[in-house]
Amino acid sequence: MKNQYQSYQESLDFLYQIQKDYPNLIEVIKIGTTYEERDIVLVKISQDVEKADEKPAMLYTGSIHAREWIGNELALKFIEYVALNQHIDPQLEKNLNEATIYMVPCLNPDGFEYSRKHFSFWRKNRRKNHDGTIGVDLNRNFSIGWSKSTNTSSNIYGGEAPFSEAETRAIKEFVDAHENITIAFDYHSQGNVFFPAHKFNHEAEIDGTDMNALCANMNDEIFKITGRKYGIHRGKPPAQLISGSGREYYYSKGIIATVVEVGTKNIPDYMKSMSSSVNENIPALKYAFSEVINYSSKSPHRVSAFTISDVQATSVTLSWEYEERDVIYFEIFRSVQDKDACNKRTLIATVGDNNFVDNDLESSTNYNYTIRAVNKKTGYKSSFAPIVKIRTALEDDEFFKLLFAEKNSTGYVGQFTQELNRTHFGNNSLFVGINKSKGICDGVVGFDFDSLPSDAIIKEARLYLYPMNRVGAKIEKFGEWNLSLMKNESFSDITDFKDIDSAKTKGTIGRAIKSHNLTQGIWDFWEFSSHECASLQEEIVNGKAYFRVDGPKYLPDGEDSQMMQFDIGYGQYGGGIHYRPILDVKYTVTEQKMKLSPSTLTTISTSQVEENILKSGFDKDGNRIYGYLDFDISALPDPSTTVIIKCALKIRNSNSFKKKKDTRYYIELVEVDEVGSYEDIKNRDKIEYIGYEVSESELNSKEYQYFNFDTLSKLALDTMHQEGKKLKLVIRAASSAGVTNRVVTWNSDVELVVKYIDKRRTAPAKAKNLYISKENGMIKLNWDAVDDSAVTGYYVVRNSFHIPKHFTDGVKIYGGKDTYTFDNFASFDKEKYYAVFTYDDVPNFSNGATVHYNPLEKY
Ligand SMILES: [Zn+2]
Repeated sequence: MKNQYQSYQESLDFLYQIQKDYPNLIEVIKIGTTYEERDIVLVKISQDVEKADEKPAMLYTGSIHAREWIGNELALKFIEYVALNQHIDPQLEKNLNEATIYMVPCLNPDGFEYSRKHFSFWRKNRRKNHDGTIGVDLNRNFSIGWSKSTNTSSNIYGGEAPFSEAETRAIKEFVDAHENITIAFDYHSQGNVFFPAHKFNHEAEIDGTDMNALCANMNDEIFKITGRKYGIHRGKPPAQLISGSGREYYYSKGIIATVVEVGTKNIPDYMKSMSSSVNENIPALKYAFSEVINYSSKSPHRVSAFTISDVQATSVTLSWEYEERDVIYFEIFRSVQDKDACNKRTLIATVGDNNFVDNDLESSTNYNYTIRAVNKKTGYKSSFAPIVKIRTALEDDEFFKLLFAEKNSTGYVGQFTQELNRTHFGNNSLFVGINKSKGICDGVVGFDFDSLPSDAIIKEARLYLYPMNRVGAKIEKFGEWNLSLMKNESFSDITDFKDIDSAKTKGTIGRAIKSHNLTQGIWDFWEFSSHECASLQEEIVNGKAYFRVDGPKYLPDGEDSQMMQFDIGYGQYGGGIHYRPILDVKYTVTEQKMKLSPSTLTTISTSQVEENILKSGFDKDGNRIYGYLDFDISALPDPSTTVIIKCALKIRNSNSFKKKKDTRYYIELVEVDEVGSYEDIKNRDKIEYIGYEVSESELNSKEYQYFNFDTLSKLALDTMHQEGKKLKLVIRAASSAGVTNRVVTWNSDVELVVKYIDKRRTAPAKAKNLYISKENGMIKLNWDAVDDSAVTGYYVVRNSFHIPKHFTDGVKIYGGKDTYTFDNFASFDKEKYYAVFTYDDVPNFSNGATVHYNPLEKY
């Protein structure tokens, strides 16, 4: 297997040969000499390569860890690809004219050769430490966050001082001297995951959206080739953020920097795995190269103040600021997926204004929006504004609940860990799959249904899990992960492996997630079909629902682990509430029905006003005869907690005609003060027609006609209900030919049939006296309780860039009844905004009570 990989010398031979073959495109330079006196080389690739340093550039480093051979191999294949396709692929050709690629295929040649010849799993370089041990982990030897250690034999020993090593010094000096670098990749193995850079805190950075979008767009290219989806993970609290890495050094220089962990092994089977890893990363890198210019000084600047100005059930209005310039337009991207691509697939609008209305959305659904400015003349694009997250409002008959996994019923049960299984609950991550030491492991996720009304009718549901640590998990392309709803009576102890593994289920939920789509750092979810929603609904009476997550039950050939890890948001390894498993349920409740009889029935013709009878048609002279009726809708329950869902007028006629004429009968919703005269009724204000007109042929004295209120009429009715007004209707006839002497008498058993549900209409008041303090090294928020029995809780959100306008517009800090919370992961040094939204059981959210954290202020 090792023979299929290029040795360092073979790699150098290849590079010098290709330089000879493509002298205008490729230049190989030496940037340093290793401890064992090998050359460290960097390849410049650009059209007219002597001008390479004058153009914006992408930096690639590979194999900084000796045993991670993919870096070197991919670089060689990519260089060859670029050389062969430079004049074939027009995008590549354009990019090579405008930009440059710098590649160090192997940043650790000594270690690489040692790994090839002596010890496959060697990671460090080959320098002799002062105490005789060998090697420094080069990816811990950069200056940012460098940490001193005396454990020189450690695999992650960071050296005596930052840049003590020839290899790190070589790349540092090159990067320091090349301010034209805008994007950097450091290729490692394994895990199939992107790790964008961070600034040693757990908060969003202004270019966080850029890094996520760059990785997500590369992911789309990867997916097209192999169907694989990489994770995107910026280091999640409280996981240890690594110190002294190259990525953070590049990032500190203002470069968008990302580690890419490729494949499922350090040294994969070349034929089986390595080639597909290489093949899928070539188009990904080619895409990344096309973005280099967009992060240079030639690109337009980033859109500012990108935010939500309105949210309805099916529409969202976004707004932003940008200094007026003729050549600028904006690209808006929308997705319902976490960390999704911003490319043609998700581009929903190209606009010139500083606002945009997105219609035709689904109600109560989470949407992510991103925006970038584009220069029409050059085609260069700006960086992305920080992502905006929105959940659309509810439809009239809808409610939702975000149910968080319950601590004591969420954990995993292992086949060989029976004594420990109990202790996993509410404590460890969810291990699901199989490995040699734990055996088969199933996850259990339990939810309390106390907050769901017993008559809830579940319309939609999704269960979300946050996948973590694919790197340690070593997931091969093998097997799938399933969610199933367990039958309540089929197990007795949720901490018992046998009970859980053999529990009967109501079937699997949604679609299984395949091994190669388990994306570390990107929320996964299973979506319930309507049949599965009905199964879930049956569990409401039990007050609880238990789900089982299971993976492969046997190991792939020759492997010792096929185990995925999901966060449970509890315990010392959990990321807190933001990462807790969520059951997102959209539901409605049983409608109630009320039938109202009219309080007035009148017939108005030119000659008279007749009380207590309802007729319409034409008199002998062809003048209209109007039927008028009104309803006292104050008989309906309290408008502040009642929402009208449907309404219809039920009516039948008591006479009919043998010979039909072309006469039709309309019902109008009207506004009229008095109906004492023909003039009054002629001067009525028409609001809307109710339902469709009926023709004489449809009239039959035995059958009722139903005139259904459309949305506008329903809204009008709703307003009248709230304002305590009467519902006023007119029945009138219309004919194309001058009809005379034609009068329909309507039966007096006419009814208004109203269907409604109990639902609060308005949000509780917003919290007052929100203030920041510092306690136990954390930011603490306090606010006054809102004195209203309808308050179900407070939802607290942090946003690093703008005031959160909506409860989804930032990082979730808290949801519950307390009137304080700690922000466990907030940095004292970074400006940020908080908002507290009060909510009821619908939930309706108040406007946010907001507070600004300023690092320069004392709290
Ligand atoms: Zn590595």
